[in-house]
Amino acid sequence: MQSRAHLDWPFFDDAHRTLAADLSVWASKNIEHAPSAETREANDLRCRSLVDALGRSGWARYAVPRAYGGAMDELDSRALCIVRETLAYHDGLADFAFAMQGLGSGAITLAGSDALKRAYLPRVASGQAIAAFALSEPDAGSDVAAMQTRARVADDADDTPDDDLHGKSEGADYIIDGSKTWISNGGIADFYTVFARTSDEPGARGISAFVVDAHTTGLSVAERIDVIAPHPLATLRFDRCRVPASHRLGEVGQGFKIAMQTLDIFRASVAAAALGFARRAFDEALAHARGRKMFGHTLADFQLTQVTLADMATDIDAAALLTYRAAWMRDVKRTRATREAAMAKLTATENAQRVIDRAVQMFGGAGVRKGNIAESLYREIRALRIYEGASEVQRLIIGRDLLREVLRDPQASATA
Ligand SMILES: Cc1cc2nc3c(=O)[nH]c(=O)nc-3n(C[C@H](O)[C@H](O)[C@H](O)COP(=O)(O)OP(=O)(O)OC[C@H]3O[C@@H](n4cnc5c(N)ncnc54)[C@H](O)[C@@H]3O)c2cc1C
Repeated sequence: MQSRAHLDWPFFDDAHRTLAADLSVWASKNIEHAPSAETREANDLRCRSLVDALGRSGWARYAVPRAYGGAMDELDSRALCIVRETLAYHDGLADFAFAMQGLGSGAITLAGSDALKRAYLPRVASGQAIAAFALSEPDAGSDVAAMQTRARVADDADDTPDDDLHGKSEGADYIIDGSKTWISNGGIADFYTVFARTSDEPGARGISAFVVDAHTTGLSVAERIDVIAPHPLATLRFDRCRVPASHRLGEVGQGFKIAMQTLDIFRASVAAAALGFARRAFDEALAHARGRKMFGHTLADFQLTQVTLADMATDIDAAALLTYRAAWMRDVKRTRATREAAMAKLTATENAQRVIDRAVQMFGGAGVRKGNIAESLYREIRALRIYEGASEVQRLIIGRDLLREVLRDPQASATA
């Protein structure tokens, strides 16, 4: 049973406590921790059915605002974190299915026109449309601003218009050429939020964001990618892919800012997912230590084990405090909380890796046996230290933000 003691902390409202309790009951009944499916097709199918289940049961509504079919007035960071923590405790793919509905549609919520919001967000909330976020490229991962995918205004002398799109567009269409890689839900998504360079302005300044339907002519899945904790993942190719101007998010050149604002919200939720994995590993390790007989005692009777459990519990509480502080700051203090979200992601993912590794160790041989929960958590946690900004990148964000603050106000304590 997942611990809910932290919900008494002052970060939460009663609505959050009710959400955590209700989702926990639903997840216990409806979501089983499943080891990776045998084939990619089976895994895709399971992912689709999880999105469908989250949509039908109303949980995916927490990924969009109320005016467009969501559960709360605005994207609520604490609710996003509670949902991810709870789902991750039960199953990594269930967390992934929810997380991508939020990340894939987050830029529409933040910067889309009312028409785009009405066209996409209700379908995300109901699980009828699967969302994806396409930022990374083969040569632009941590260095996002190095992206080379281009979106140029169509010159209809050269570019044959697509009848499906022409006429619906406000202004000239865009033609997207390039490649995106490591795209979660790549291959099963119904639409992608795509970031592309619209001008030669250096670095981050010339980037714009677009919503691209998966069936758009010129968009194809170039390669499916298999990873240690399987989930749908692909490299996408854009080859003269025509997108109406009305599908641009925000103003021309605002794409980098929109991407960073989206990540500011969802980074704290990655921390929450790591927390869910860590709590599950802790509970499994504790139960195992109390039951495992050795040397005439149980494993839990030994002080060495108690010290390990203490370290695991302390790592978990430290991660939870930073995670929910970041979410609370965004919801209640109404700040972007970039530094706090980076601290939360860095600490929660690194701590969860340590907690899970200790759980594997406590299980002995069984800990590395396929099908053991500790074994699958060990694979699940690894990518969270890399995606949405690797741990090194989070350190850089924190360090730069501290220095910026000191430059703004030399009297300010750097750690305040
Ligand atoms: C499972 C998975 C799912 C993903 N899903 C998505 C998705 O849905 N959408 C999307 O757009 N992207 C996605 N990504 C991509 C992810 O965001 C990138 O992998 C990540 O940003 C790192 O980029 P990279 O892989 O190119 O590594 P690189 O950028 O090449 O980094 C390699 C190493 O260099 C380190 N490094 C970076 N900067 C510095 C520095 N200044 N000093 C020292 N070291 C540094 C990094 O921390 C890392 O350890 C996903 C990745 C994975 C693994």
